[in-house]
Amino acid sequence: MERTYIMVKPDGVERGIVGEIIKRFEQRGFQLTALELIHPSKELLEEHYCDLKTKGFFPSLIEYMSSGPVVGMVWTGKDAVKTGRKMLGETNPLNSAPGTIRGDFCIEVGRNICHGSDAVESAEREIALWFPRGVKTVARTHSIHSLFYEN
Ligand code: UDP
Ligand code: MG
Repeated sequence: MERTYIMVKPDGVERGIVGEIIKRFEQRGFQLTALELIHPSKELLEEHYCDLKTKGFFPSLIEYMSSGPVVGMVWTGKDAVKTGRKMLGETNPLNSAPGTIRGDFCIEVGRNICHGSDAVESAEREIALWFPRGVKTVARTHSIHSLFYEN
C-alpha cells in the first residue's frame, strides 16, 4: 500500500486548520499511519527541501517553515501520493481550484499551509527523515478498501 508524507506548515497550525486537513484525508479513505507535532530545526528543513537549495526563495522558505510547530503525518492508501497532491492543489494557491486544501484556505505561495510528497520515492525519503524510528502500519479490520479485488 502506498504512503505519503503530509505536513501542516506553521501557518496552517497557527490558523487552526490541522483538523480540517486530517478530516479531508480521513473522509477520502486514507489511513492515518503516523502523526507528530514538532518544531523543526533549520537543518531538518534544509534536508527535507534539499532539492530546492539553489532556488532564490530557499532562505525565506526555511525561515517560514522553522517559524513554529508543524504537524507531520503519514497517510496510507491506494495512490496516496498522487491523490494527496490533488487534494492539496497547486504550489501557488492562486492556481489551486476551490475544493482543494490550498484553493480553500490560502492565497500566498509563501504561506501555502500544507506540504505533500510529490512522488513515491520522495515520500519514502521524507517519511524516513521525519520518522527515523520507523512507522508501523496496522491492518484495518473495517476498511473501505476492497479486501478481495486488486487492480
Ligand atoms: N515556494 C515559494 N515560492 C516559489 C515556489 C515555492 O515560496 O516560487 C515554497 C512553497 O511554500 C512551496 C515550497 O516552497 O510549497 C516547496 O516548493 P515546491 O516546488 O516543492 O512546491 P510544493 O511541492 O510544496 O507544491
Ligand atoms: Mg515539493
